[in-house]
Amino acid sequence: DNVLHIIGGGMAGSEAAWQAANMGVHVVIHEMRPSVKTFAHRTGDLAEMVCSNSFRSDDDEQNAVGLLHWEMRAANGLIMAMAHENRLPAGGALAVDRDRFAQSVTARLLDHPNITVQHDEITQLPESGHWIIATGPLTSEGLGQAIAAETGTEALAFFDAIAPIVYHDSIDMSRAWMQSRYDKGETEAERTAYLNCPMDRDQYEAFIDALLAADKTEFHEGEAESSPNPTPYFDGCLPIEVMAERGRETLRHGPMKPVGLTNPHAPDVKPHAVVQLRRDNALGTLYNIVGFQTKMKYGAQTTVFKMIPGLENAQFARLGGIHRNTFLNSPTLLDAQMRLRARPHIRFAGQITGVEGYVESAAMGLLAGRLAAAEILGQSLPPVPQDSAMGALIHHITGGAEAKTFQPMNVNFGLFRPIDGFKGGRRGRIDRYKGYTDRAKAAWGEWLAAQNMSIAS
Ligand code: FAD
Repeated sequence: DNVLHIIGGGMAGSEAAWQAANMGVHVVIHEMRPSVKTFAHRTGDLAEMVCSNSFRSDDDEQNAVGLLHWEMRAANGLIMAMAHENRLPAGGALAVDRDRFAQSVTARLLDHPNITVQHDEITQLPESGHWIIATGPLTSEGLGQAIAAETGTEALAFFDAIAPIVYHDSIDMSRAWMQSRYDKGETEAERTAYLNCPMDRDQYEAFIDALLAADKTEFHEGEAESSPNPTPYFDGCLPIEVMAERGRETLRHGPMKPVGLTNPHAPDVKPHAVVQLRRDNALGTLYNIVGFQTKMKYGAQTTVFKMIPGLENAQFARLGGIHRNTFLNSPTLLDAQMRLRARPHIRFAGQITGVEGYVESAAMGLLAGRLAAAEILGQSLPPVPQDSAMGALIHHITGGAEAKTFQPMNVNFGLFRPIDGFKGGRRGRIDRYKGYTDRAKAAWGEWLAAQNMSIAS
């Protein structure tokens, strides 16, 4: 049959349904709420925002999230249109009245002649037909188990704390250096997999003091209780503050151990501790701080992490954080069209694919909806352009990211293919970001034009 079934009417599922329905495909949304609840959602509305009411920056020239807004608007996206209709004053951010936002998304979808909404929980992987699974970070347990059985439990990760990611070009390489511990690695890529920041004793002690004193977030209400483990953390994934609380030397014997490394800037001085960063993408533009998962508040994180020698001026592509999350190891499990390789009649979309945030989730829904509809209609779409924000994100999750360390990702300019020739400093950065967004808009416009879609105003 030619119906597209979408499991989950959140950010991704709602946008996917809208796109596919507008292309002429009949869509059934299966949403388990309100009869089956999650700990974070409160209503039975589609596209409910579970936490903040912001879609973040609306700046489409200097901000990668703002660029995603632009691309979704250009493709006649529902989430962005309803956000605009229900926006609240919030400076450069796109904040909305969350209840009216979700109600208007729901109303538009219910009104659409090609869309049916069924309130049911799906607990098995479908055997046939055309499906998109967009059940989000709070995928219900039954379906989560069915997905785990198909993909292997290791591939379906549950985790609680995430570590921050830093832009490579904001790291001071006159203090930091590239080296794998014990010089492991044969290839150039392996040898440049790690970047090291040294600390002397005083710097280490000051850092531990700051960690212990920093403001920490508490769990979202209900979160610890609904976690599958009695302790809310995975062992081996303890937040650094928790490790520091166990003893001042714990980090120096754990993620900050100074062994197997020689600082070329001071080869005779043995560092007291070393912070390691690991390359996070194939381009080498992003590095995550190894073992630094944290539940410090965002403000505290930027202050404390800038105490690390070499990171004084660090720019963060993503800060660390803590919440329960379900996501796939997409780089190994999904093809470039977001189809499950082992069962290509099933696509995934939204946060479960390893993107993070309302906007990114809706964006991946938009792509999944269009790709699925094109397949049903027998149309072939050109590949999603990698230079668009959409393309940079889908490329990252389905191929560009390191599969072994794959963690949910916000959109950011580190995912884009670099453009050379810009000066350093603030002015250079402004020009470079404008260069990325101009290039992205042109590429996205061409992709839409190839589908006979002019850019929506
Ligand atoms: P969701 O929007 O969660 O939609 C998934 C839908 O699937 C839900 O409606 C759910 O009821 C339904 N569902 C689940 N299982 C089944 C099933 N088996 N059958 C049928 N339906 C099912 N992002 C931000 O940008 N800002 C924030 O402040 C923020 N705060 C967050 C706080 C928490 C506690 C969590 C968990 C996430 C937060 N996120 C935040 C991330 C945010 O949830 C996602 O970015 C976004 O909502 C994901 O969109 P999605 O469509 O993938 O999933």
